[in-house]
Amino acid sequence: MATLAFPEIEGPVANTAMYNTAMQDLVRQLLARLGEDPDREGLVRTPLRVEKALKFLTSGYDANIGEVLNDALFTVDYSEMVIVRDIDFYSMCEHHMLPFFGKCHVAYIPNGKVIGLSKIPRLVDVFARRLQVQERMTNQIAETIRETIHPLGVAVVCEGTHLCMAMRGVEKQNSYTITSAMLGSFRENPQTRSEFLELLKLRPGALGLTRGGLTVPSGHHLD
Ligand SMILES: [Zn+2]
Repeated sequence: MATLAFPEIEGPVANTAMYNTAMQDLVRQLLARLGEDPDREGLVRTPLRVEKALKFLTSGYDANIGEVLNDALFTVDYSEMVIVRDIDFYSMCEHHMLPFFGKCHVAYIPNGKVIGLSKIPRLVDVFARRLQVQERMTNQIAETIRETIHPLGVAVVCEGTHLCMAMRGVEKQNSYTITSAMLGSFRENPQTRSEFLELLKLRPGALGLTRGGLTVPSGHHLD
């Protein structure tokens, strides 16, 4: 099989030392396999861009959760529900390596400790910036909060649009997937759970959650 030569990259992007050229070579090969000419002007720097983008979009693997959260844990005498809603997330499904994105809502009831509010979106990013399935991402966010501050309860709800469904499916363009993880008092106490869902005012599609289900089936297609 012919080996693809690696192109000369000049100019401001010549500083490629920090990137793995083996990955760029794979992207070149992928472009060729797709029937493209990797040497045409518009694609010459694409392997470098793709690698940069993929490294960023999967940077959650390298994040240290302890470092992200440790300087933002505070002792408080407060035991009402804390909610951070409408956190934007952008992730990539591990089945197709296509984006899924949407909103994440996080709530917990403190038991002596809280997390600095600005750190909750950071925590969502840590788990979103990996190859994911939405169900696992939702659980990981909830479990990390539980393990970090041992609250009385944690609830995480994510609403995501999956491009692997929207771009390939028929009449699925407006569908979205809702996943939830309810731990502690959110799982055991229907009233706490309803209060949270009421505060979120989720769209009608989320009503199944009030029946106590842990996860609304995503309908994620594996073909
Ligand atoms: Zn997918």
